[in-house]
Amino acid sequence: MALVTLASESPTRTASSFPLAGATCPHSHQGLLRLGETGNVLAGEGRPPVEWPIHSSIYRSRPDVNAVLHSHSPMSKVFSLSSQPLQPVYGISAPWLSRDIPVCRLLGIVATEDAGAQVAAVLGDGPAVLLRAHGSVVVGSSVEDVTVRAVVLERAAAALQQMLAMGGVQHLTPEELTNWAETTPEGHQKTWEFLLEESRLLSKRVAREREWNQ
Ligand SMILES: [Zn+2]
Repeated sequence: MALVTLASESPTRTASSFPLAGATCPHSHQGLLRLGETGNVLAGEGRPPVEWPIHSSIYRSRPDVNAVLHSHSPMSKVFSLSSQPLQPVYGISAPWLSRDIPVCRLLGIVATEDAGAQVAAVLGDGPAVLLRAHGSVVVGSSVEDVTVRAVVLERAAAALQQMLAMGGVQHLTPEELTNWAETTPEGHQKTWEFLLEESRLLSKRVAREREWNQ
């Protein structure tokens, strides 16, 4: 389950209005809400998710960010409590993931603007932040962008955990990360399409297994 939001399309964007998709599937339009700065519903039906302050605080502090994804992914919780930082391990992700991911030590649900501001402060100008014993927040330019980033971050964490279990990691050097970042094309379209296909295949498999078990 993930909560994805997009900033308002207004050229003078502020945190005063942003559509909020409280859906498990980012390409579904189910559950779309437009929220105001204080979590008030401007359009759509339903109650806003309790952790909306994560999103509004980040839009307020990061004018370069157009989409925010918050999830309670398993590996982000592991690294949020580990003494081992979540470090970049994929060269091809270096254009956006080339630094250790910080941990916000705030405890509990991020349900107030003060808590949201603390998350935004730890995020800084980075691409992601882990929330201690809670999950992660990833920022980017679009729903597709943050979805790909969140999946890659989770898989990078799993890969790093495997490397540590094998006895150690020969980390990418700053020079290697710089080289990867400078030579890798920007954009996630291919990965997005791959993830969509992977999701469709998984859905089919689950449906087939349900049929067999009936
Ligand atoms: Zn949460």
